[in-house]
Amino acid sequence: MAASRLRVAIVGAGWAGLAAAVEAVRAGHAVTVFEAARTLGGRARTLDVTLPDGRSVDLDNGQHILIGAYHHTLSLMQTVGVAPAQVLSGLPLSLRDPQGQGLALPAWPSPLDAIWGIATARGWRWADRLTFVRTCLAWRAHGFQCPAHVSVAALCDGLPQRVRTDVIEPLCVSALNTPSQQASGQVFLRVLRDALFGAGWGAWGASWLLLPRAALGRLLPDAAAAWLAAQGATVRTGHRVALLARTASGWQVDADRFDAVVLACPSWDAIRLLQDNVIEAPTWLAHAQALRHEAIATVYATSARTLPAPMLALREGPGAPAQFVFDRGQLDGPPGLLAFVASACQGERQELERQVLAQAHALGWHDVAPLRTVVEKRATFACTPGLVRPGIAIAEGLWACGDWVEGPYPATLEGAVMSGQRAATTLSAARRTAD
Ligand SMILES: Cc1cc2nc3c(=O)[nH]c(=O)nc-3n(C[C@H](O)[C@H](O)[C@H](O)COP(=O)(O)OP(=O)(O)OC[C@H]3O[C@@H](n4cnc5c(N)ncnc54)[C@H](O)[C@@H]3O)c2cc1C
Repeated sequence: MAASRLRVAIVGAGWAGLAAAVEAVRAGHAVTVFEAARTLGGRARTLDVTLPDGRSVDLDNGQHILIGAYHHTLSLMQTVGVAPAQVLSGLPLSLRDPQGQGLALPAWPSPLDAIWGIATARGWRWADRLTFVRTCLAWRAHGFQCPAHVSVAALCDGLPQRVRTDVIEPLCVSALNTPSQQASGQVFLRVLRDALFGAGWGAWGASWLLLPRAALGRLLPDAAAAWLAAQGATVRTGHRVALLARTASGWQVDADRFDAVVLACPSWDAIRLLQDNVIEAPTWLAHAQALRHEAIATVYATSARTLPAPMLALREGPGAPAQFVFDRGQLDGPPGLLAFVASACQGERQELERQVLAQAHALGWHDVAPLRTVVEKRATFACTPGLVRPGIAIAEGLWACGDWVEGPYPATLEGAVMSGQRAATTLSAARRTAD
């Protein structure tokens, strides 16, 4: 139980806000969550889509994957009553393409899985394998650290083209959602360290892909909301916070008074709240305003085919923007439902959809037909070298969390959850110090 029970407002019920709310309730605080949308989950939420045969299906605003190294997220799911093994399919890391070329790790303990996967990668020369192993060992010897200004492309300059195309590019764009020439080598190494050499989760290795077998809402947001309500917390959906004002003893959020406030909304909404309410935080605002964003497009399509695996890597190139395709029929969807994912993509929805279809047809998948294309224009912040992200503290009693707030991870579910939990523990600690 906390030394003092605080009234805490959390603005935003994405995965960061929900993680902050659960942690704050566990610390004994009285929590109110405000969410502008009617649906919880923010950028990882469920959409209701109608299939060509008229049936309705729950899809995601974008295909998401988790990995076995997402310890904070997986244990948060358990806390709110979701068994990860029931809603996620764990598969050893595979970056094989539709022709079966590329890297696939066996279901063995680390680092044996990586050694065997590299030794048997299809289409690689022995020189490719040896250079990659040597480079990984050198990264490990340096503690997976590199200077802040180094890009992923520069970091991997000495690797053979085949390794860059089959491993580095797909991992970089899927984890950092930033092209390797513009992506932070430091953050990339941190993700590699945790995924290739970190601890896994139960029977799942750290690098295993955890593919949702349920709509995203069922992975965390719905259960978190029910858990919060059962603990006496309040979750107000459809409530966009507009007023944020300092009071003698804390903060006013619209009509209510709180001791502490956590802004768990995207950076642009946090900036607007501070500016509209004339809250002085010049350095914090400058860092938040400097963030740039990258898009992700998910093209849902139908086809009579079943893919050889639930997830395949695709070769990206000019006019071929998708890096992965998921066979939702092998996960939670109806048979024949495919999800093509184009991370760090550019262009408008129709053009992206047209290009992805052309990419599928070029593979000989002529019956692939579009169902729904979702383009999230500001899916994640661009994770560039040397980027200084806004900190967790904005002003006294006013905190920030989200996948874009200062932290070791790129914009991911795990980064969001870690940030939310950190905001909740920091506000409790700050209050204890003040008392
Ligand atoms: C298409 C797509 C694919 C992705 N794929 C992956 C993946 O495979 N793996 C992975 O780990 N990550 C992935 N991500 C990233 C992941 O979804 C995000 O990192 C994470 O959801 C961010 O959570 P958050 O809580 O920080 O922010 P958000 O989810 O943006 O939540 C912020 C919430 O604040 C609310 N809000 C804003 N303003 C107000 C206000 N004034 N009052 C009240 N509420 C407000 C918003 O409505 C929103 O619900 C993907 C993202 C996208 C978009």
